[in-house]
Amino acid sequence: MKNDFETVVIGGGAAGIAAARHLCQNGIRCLLIEARLRLGGRALTIIDTSGFALDLGCGWLHSADRNPWVAIAEEQHRTIDKTPPPWRRRSLPLGFPEGGQAEFLEAQEQFFARVSARAQKEPDVAAATLFAPGDRWNNLINAVGTYISGAELEQVSARDFDNFEDTGVNWRIAEGYGTTIAACGANLPIMLDCPVHRIDHRGKRLSIETARGAIAADQAIITLPSTVLAEGEELFVPALPQKTQAAENLPLGLTDKLFLSLERADEFEKDSRLFGATDRTGTATYHLRPFGRPLIEVFFGGALAAALEAGGEHAFFDFAVSELTGVLGASFAKRVKPVHIHRWRTDPFARGSYSYARPGMADARKQLAAPVDGRLFFAGEACSTTHFSTAHGGWITGVTAAEEVLATRS
Ligand SMILES: Cc1cc2nc3c(=O)[nH]c(=O)nc-3n(C[C@H](O)[C@H](O)[C@H](O)COP(=O)(O)OP(=O)(O)OC[C@H]3O[C@@H](n4cnc5c(N)ncnc54)[C@H](O)[C@@H]3O)c2cc1C
Repeated sequence: MKNDFETVVIGGGAAGIAAARHLCQNGIRCLLIEARLRLGGRALTIIDTSGFALDLGCGWLHSADRNPWVAIAEEQHRTIDKTPPPWRRRSLPLGFPEGGQAEFLEAQEQFFARVSARAQKEPDVAAATLFAPGDRWNNLINAVGTYISGAELEQVSARDFDNFEDTGVNWRIAEGYGTTIAACGANLPIMLDCPVHRIDHRGKRLSIETARGAIAADQAIITLPSTVLAEGEELFVPALPQKTQAAENLPLGLTDKLFLSLERADEFEKDSRLFGATDRTGTATYHLRPFGRPLIEVFFGGALAAALEAGGEHAFFDFAVSELTGVLGASFAKRVKPVHIHRWRTDPFARGSYSYARPGMADARKQLAAPVDGRLFFAGEACSTTHFSTAHGGWITGVTAAEEVLATRS
């Protein structure tokens, strides 16, 4: 029957696609329900007018030597680029002399070491409490924190920050990470443009109420972004206050990417980087000539990104131009034009970029992932204790939830 399935997977991002694929491969009659007109969620590639694939969401295959999306990209015959990422190299010395960069990297290393040393001690603290008091590099370390967590380190659990596992190998897909993730789901049983409003688990079977009517299922895997779960108090009937609470403690931080076209790009080294400023937290980072293309990929995080979202798309461009001209001179303004941006906080089906745990709340990830009554299962990057905030974290939690469903049926 069209409206009756063994398992319904809610949310067609990395986690939902991985879960549905695993269930289908194991013979489960399932349906993937997605609110948007497209698959991928926070993985989103657009093709610009020059034909370049631009990732407005995830772009880097972090921990690429272990990342399950690499095999999927290879199956799809994608072009994997293994150029080391700009943050693993020195920044351009423009506005940031080499001596200062060495000092900054040393201060950042020491900060990460202090976070690690404190991480498993009680009580958990905000990562920012581990700044060296009065150190001149604290603001820039905090700026990098906003790129990593989407939030200033005053708001982020030191334990959770330290729990993140990363092998340090970072690759990209020329055709786009978003393209690859969406294509992976293309042949699954999908219902697009179908927001789920309510998951009624009072009866013997689940009733999933959607914009296109009710769907009956034995089990559901819920992969909604944590902020969507936290704000959806009426999503579950009866309510699941512990789940909502866990989601509230894992808010989505905010990072947004703006792509600029760049005239006379050859002046800059391929895949190089600049900071807009080195003495404040509210600064963007500029990835020059990603893949060697005549573009700049600008990364905004935390409170800065939130303030710019409130100002509309042009606010990002104006801010970027003011920082770039500050470093490269007034005439640089003529060489850049806005190409594309996606505002992730404003996006109603994301409401942010990736999750961090509030201080003291690292265990919320396990609480969010815990199944309810052997019928409601949870996946999504926020459910991973070690690979949160990433697309491969989404994949891993999706497969884990699908395995949990299969275990109840064996
Ligand atoms: C700017 C940016 C840069 C990033 N960079 C990287 C990176 O370089 N590398 C990396 O690994 N990760 C990166 N990430 C994070 C990565 O994109 C996410 O962690 C990952 O895509 C999350 O997958 P998910 O399946 O958990 O959630 P989502 O992709 O958010 O999937 C959830 C799905 O649920 C859908 N949905 C929402 N509400 C409803 C509803 N009511 N009914 C039905 N469906 C609904 C959404 O539309 C969405 O498709 C980045 C993210 C952003 C925003």
